[in-house]
Amino acid sequence: MTHTDQTARLDDVRARIAAAATASGRDPAAVRLLAVSKTFGPPALAALAACGQRDFGENYLQEALPKIAALAGEFPDLCWHFIGPLQSNKARDVAAHFDWVHSVDRLSVAQRLSRQREGRAPLQLCLQVNVSGEASKSGVDAAQLPELARAVAALPNLRLRGLMCIPAPATGPAAQRAPFALLRALLRQLRDLGLDVDTLSMGMSADLEAAVAEGATIVRVGSALFGARDAGGA
Ligand SMILES: *Cc1c(COP(=O)(O)O)cnc(C)c1O
Repeated sequence: MTHTDQTARLDDVRARIAAAATASGRDPAAVRLLAVSKTFGPPALAALAACGQRDFGENYLQEALPKIAALAGEFPDLCWHFIGPLQSNKARDVAAHFDWVHSVDRLSVAQRLSRQREGRAPLQLCLQVNVSGEASKSGVDAAQLPELARAVAALPNLRLRGLMCIPAPATGPAAQRAPFALLRALLRQLRDLGLDVDTLSMGMSADLEAAVAEGATIVRVGSALFGARDAGGA
């Protein structure tokens, strides 16, 4: 993959976001593009960073740490988002090296992140919600969300920003929008409870238009930016 390819892909994804936002009367600048870089090495990330991309998402801690270190010299202002499955034993490194975490679904993990973040700027945090019922094992159930959100919002060194979901794959705009509409309704419910939340992390390469139509403020895009992972990845 050449730099020219990467620039063209970035332009294409930005245009998709802008078109989807405009179509639903939203400001394209209200949608933040998170480049999901799992399996791709530092040169691919650097090519996007050179085009102005600042937010990068990683799923696996051991893979992410060397990449974060490799890019820090040339691009000291990148914003790193942890979006993968998260157990308590990874909380220390995640709190030390990331700016955002999207995949918290248990209070014990949030408590550990809070303790490990002591003395630093607050870690920005989204709660992952299971919007597909039994199809997915990760994420808090909608029924348990308000209680978890209240408890997490009360922890020091964290800032609860909103909600994240990874719906089961669906085809067609209506089927794609349904879980995103649910996440949007859940965010509104948290606001009605008095929580200061503003973030909907939803939408990937195949369904970002549906997510933007339902109010996504962060879309997490991998293959549309970097190419297919099985062909072009690690
Ligand atoms: C891999 C991944 C993405 C990006 O998926 P694409 O289909 O490649 O855009 C987004 N979010 C999470 C949590 C992921 O693991």
